[in-house]
Amino acid sequence: MSVPELRLGILLRSRTLLAVASGREGFPVDAVLYRAPWSDGQRIPVIPGPTFKGVLRKSASKVAWLLGLSSCHSVRPEAEYTCMGRWGRPCDIHLVFGAPGRLRSAVEISQLVPVESEEEARRLFDDAALWLRPYRPGRAPPTFNVTRVGIRDDACVASEGLLYTYEQMPIGVAFYGEVAIAAHEELALKAVKLVLAGLANLRLDRLGRAGIADASVIAVSPKLGEIVNKDLVASSLLRGLKRGWWF
Ligand SMILES: [Zn+2]
Repeated sequence: MSVPELRLGILLRSRTLLAVASGREGFPVDAVLYRAPWSDGQRIPVIPGPTFKGVLRKSASKVAWLLGLSSCHSVRPEAEYTCMGRWGRPCDIHLVFGAPGRLRSAVEISQLVPVESEEEARRLFDDAALWLRPYRPGRAPPTFNVTRVGIRDDACVASEGLLYTYEQMPIGVAFYGEVAIAAHEELALKAVKLVLAGLANLRLDRLGRAGIADASVIAVSPKLGEIVNKDLVASSLLRGLKRGWWF
């Protein structure tokens, strides 16, 4: 793997409990976290890159219009349900985030790994550690189990089969990951604006079904900084995202 020229480092801090995916079939939690297995037997909770890309794409799609950019709002892979079938050309969201088998994505996202501090995240950015080799997080944040029971409305008693336990991550856990952009300059600027606006909107939106996270940008590569500096909207979005919202 090589280090992308255009990249930015994202720090997410949970503001609510986040559920860790159990891998159990039919388990009714829309979790963004799962435990990645390592050869030493450790299973460390991470947010997979494609999962976060989906979250960011949806968030960017909602605010594209604020940037004067287009979105067909389609999440279906079939062309007939998207801009490409309906308008005969891709919308800006499809141009930037891609369409399977049709358009290469201009945005790639690393997995988001747990970090103890912003300093640790900065070191990962400076060393480009997420791109050079499979990165193994130093430690797994503590989690705890929550047991819930479903109540039958008619009789106010526990429903049979509706006792379930799942794993949750406490509030305030930080995850670090990077967004890489590969595109010619005009498309790269669109991608930067949609990624930044998508992150800003994510502070108000949901991570998975009900998770809330603060998102901030802790570093950008020099080449990405040059693109941002040429554009007023991108510059103010980046300025705003450099400060955490709640922390
Ligand atoms: Zn589209």
